[in-house]
Amino acid sequence: MPFKVKLKLFAIGLLGLAVLSTLLMIQPFLAGAFLVLVLIYIEMIYPKWNFFGSAILDVKSRGAKPVAITFDDGPSEWTLPILETLKNEQVKATFFLLGSNIDRYPEIARRIQTDGHTLGFHGESHTKFHLKGPKFIAADLDASVESFKKAGLLLPTLIRFPHGFKNIFAVREIKKRNLKLCGWGRGVWDSKRPGVDWIVKHSLLLRAGEILLLHDGNGAHKNPDRSQTAEALPQIIKGLRARGFEFVMMK
Ligand SMILES: [Zn+2]
Repeated sequence: MPFKVKLKLFAIGLLGLAVLSTLLMIQPFLAGAFLVLVLIYIEMIYPKWNFFGSAILDVKSRGAKPVAITFDDGPSEWTLPILETLKNEQVKATFFLLGSNIDRYPEIARRIQTDGHTLGFHGESHTKFHLKGPKFIAADLDASVESFKKAGLLLPTLIRFPHGFKNIFAVREIKKRNLKLCGWGRGVWDSKRPGVDWIVKHSLLLRAGEILLLHDGNGAHKNPDRSQTAEALPQIIKGLRARGFEFVMMK
């Protein structure tokens, strides 16, 4: 986690503690209610907590030393060199594609599929779902289904929410659609472009069974710069392989 993000989380934590202790002095009941609200909010923005449904958070059951490499927000032009690396290294990965980016690059989306990687939904507009109602969420997911269909792609059974943010409506909606929610175990902040070395170094901390999150796009932005991710990938694969890991797709 970059230092700036750590600092932000620390500040929010301090503020929360200050509010909690003030409420405790005024009225313990209010402090309890505040704590419950905070826990519910953390559940909404923390993919590893799932009070109202389940999520795939690891691939531990998939072999002796399995790891999964996953990409969010594509396709983009940077998906192409990433696919080249995966092909050269004979690694299969999982791509959570954004509907609006499939509309921009339908051919690249089809290439991911024909190369034999697993595809998953990632919504249409990359709007965070945690503060959205059931209508918005259903419409966004419908639009992403249309994008997959228009590009001639098979419809996935997996979904990863934008930023991993969710609420009870989103969880209910994907249950209705028989979609499996996917989280991840290790994010390396490649979306913030921290440098190739940083991305490689933190990716190589992966443990057996963990799911690595990388990005071949940048939300719904046009022409994102994912050169660092593309450049880091060969070193990540070689490094993980040297540590005895096997690559599996999510399912
Ligand atoms: Zn995303």
